[in-house]
Amino acid sequence: MNADPNCIFCKIVAGQIPARKVHEDDLVLAFHDIAPWAPVHVLVIPRQHIAMLSDVTPEHTPLLGHMLALAPVLMKQLGVTGGFRTLINTGPDGGQEVGHLHMHVMGGPRPWKKG
Ligand code: AMP
Repeated sequence: MNADPNCIFCKIVAGQIPARKVHEDDLVLAFHDIAPWAPVHVLVIPRQHIAMLSDVTPEHTPLLGHMLALAPVLMKQLGVTGGFRTLINTGPDGGQEVGHLHMHVMGGPRPWKKG
């Protein structure tokens, strides 16, 4: 599987740095964000290294569908009942800080720290 040895999220996938995982399967990993904006804030990432959403190709369509379909499942598991927000930042103007595709999923009662 595609991995970038300098990528922090690839290191989480490889178990080289710790993360508070909430889900893993053949395609993706989900874990709590280290600096949460909301009472529940998880990141869903592909196991393979894809730098950003603008790098996806049609072959990634099932992966992206899987990531999105996982959001309500995880929020339910984590006790979120009042709705949630999904967000993918892409590139510098999109505010992306970590260069490995990830989807933020945030929920829980407001007010939130941001977002
Ligand atoms: P973005 O601005 O969309 O690239 O968001 C990157 C997110 O990754 C931020 O919300 C960070 O708090 C989060 N993050 C960075 N390093 C880690 C880590 N080691 N474990 C969990 N979350 C992280």
